[in-house]
Amino acid sequence: MSFRALQVTQQTENGAVTAHEARVRTLDDDALEPADVEVDVQYSALNYKDGLALAGRPGVLRTSPIIPGIDLVGRVRSSADPRFMPGDHVVLNGDGIGETRNGGFAERAAVRGEALVVVPDAFTVHQAAAIGTAGFTAMLAVLALERGGVTPYSGPVLVTGAAGGVGSVAIAVLAKLGYQVTASTGRGDSEADYLRELGASAILNRADFAEPGRPLQKGRWAGAIDAVGGVTLANVLAQTTYGGVVASCGVAGGAELPATVMPFILRGVTLAGINSVEAPRSLRQDAWSRLARDLDVHLLDTMTSTIGLEDAQGAAGRILAGQIRGRTVVDVRH
Ligand code: NDP
Repeated sequence: MSFRALQVTQQTENGAVTAHEARVRTLDDDALEPADVEVDVQYSALNYKDGLALAGRPGVLRTSPIIPGIDLVGRVRSSADPRFMPGDHVVLNGDGIGETRNGGFAERAAVRGEALVVVPDAFTVHQAAAIGTAGFTAMLAVLALERGGVTPYSGPVLVTGAAGGVGSVAIAVLAKLGYQVTASTGRGDSEADYLRELGASAILNRADFAEPGRPLQKGRWAGAIDAVGGVTLANVLAQTTYGGVVASCGVAGGAELPATVMPFILRGVTLAGINSVEAPRSLRQDAWSRLARDLDVHLLDTMTSTIGLEDAQGAAGRILAGQIRGRTVVDVRH
């Protein structure tokens, strides 16, 4: 059987991409790798990583040709894994799809049952795609704060990269849980109302975190979820109060960490790393159960826009430029 897919063909040399083409094509089933669960994909989503892959940036796509898309949501067509039945609605985030193997920007996928989660009743398939890797990652970060003992009574928490996908879901969840959330954004002029609607009680300009600062600064945050990295993360660590937890999940501002050990040894701060791609099954299930309980679907809808497969390439440039608000669902059938 044939299906439509957005496929990338590229060449690399010493880690640099030397040729790159992304095109919607009609492929046959044999284009998919063998795997235990076949899915009729309904939606994928555009994540920062997908933006990199579609723009021909190095580091995401590990093989060619490949279908990008690190998220997929759809209906099980057939399954050799007894945990899934034909007709089940399932969601998959990461696990190498759209990086080392074919991903979600296609009407069909063959995936590992081990990483699949049944879409919780609280969500439609479209909403599950809207959550996607970014929302799943935001919840993994919230769980890391909780594991470190950060509660709504501990003090204010900070979310950086606030108007992006991870940031938007993190704010909505933290605010619903009762945390006092400060949002750091470069788009205060246009997105302040949006961020307040999600639940942010204060909004800071991300430029406040962009210049190198002292190793220890005035303690302001009991916890933080950082999607930016670089000098921003160093400053956030330096402003975290005694015993606080900073969950590091992103590199939108840079991959370096020009920090000192002072926040760790003088304030007992914990830096918690978040990796959504390789999250084990039990953590995936916990995170999706908590999303079902702690994410307001009406807020989710306000942060979501939908595009077709043909539009994904154009949207890639916008997500890399930090111009996309919240989450973008990709309807692979349009
Ligand atoms: P988005 O592009 O939706 O959001 C990123 C946000 O970061 C932007 O909206 C912008 O927020 C801010 N930003 C962008 N560029 C800069 C910059 N140069 N300096 C400071 N801030 C900047 O991406 P996602 O939310 O999907 O992903 C965020 C990050 O998390 C990415 O680096 C992504 O790779 C990473 N990630 C990691 C995962 C993991 O498993 N660890 C999983 C998912 C994502 P604003 O306009 O509000 O300032």
